[in-house]
Amino acid sequence: MTPEVAPLVACPFCGDLTGEAGRCGGCGRNKQAPRRSCTNCGKFTPSAEANCCHCRQAFTSELAWKVPVIIVLFIAAIVLSVAVRML
Ligand SMILES: [Zn+2]
Ligand SMILES: [Zn+2]
Repeated sequence: MTPEVAPLVACPFCGDLTGEAGRCGGCGRNKQAPRRSCTNCGKFTPSAEANCCHCRQAFTSELAWKVPVIIVLFIAAIVLSVAVRML
């Protein structure tokens, strides 16, 4: 039985060559997971994680500020509709 020779894929996150494409032997992350480069250290870090896996820099998503704004607008709309009805 010959072991399946998979091309060694260096983990884009920790550089480890062990494990498989779906799971790094070093950090346990999916080597093919969506990634982005850190604005602080420039290394790749999984897009799914909120902090850089190298320098722990927190990412602020472009949506982060919009969510509270939408919630506040939604509450304001409800309050306004109630207030208008009470007039
Ligand atoms: Zn890794
Ligand atoms: Zn970083």
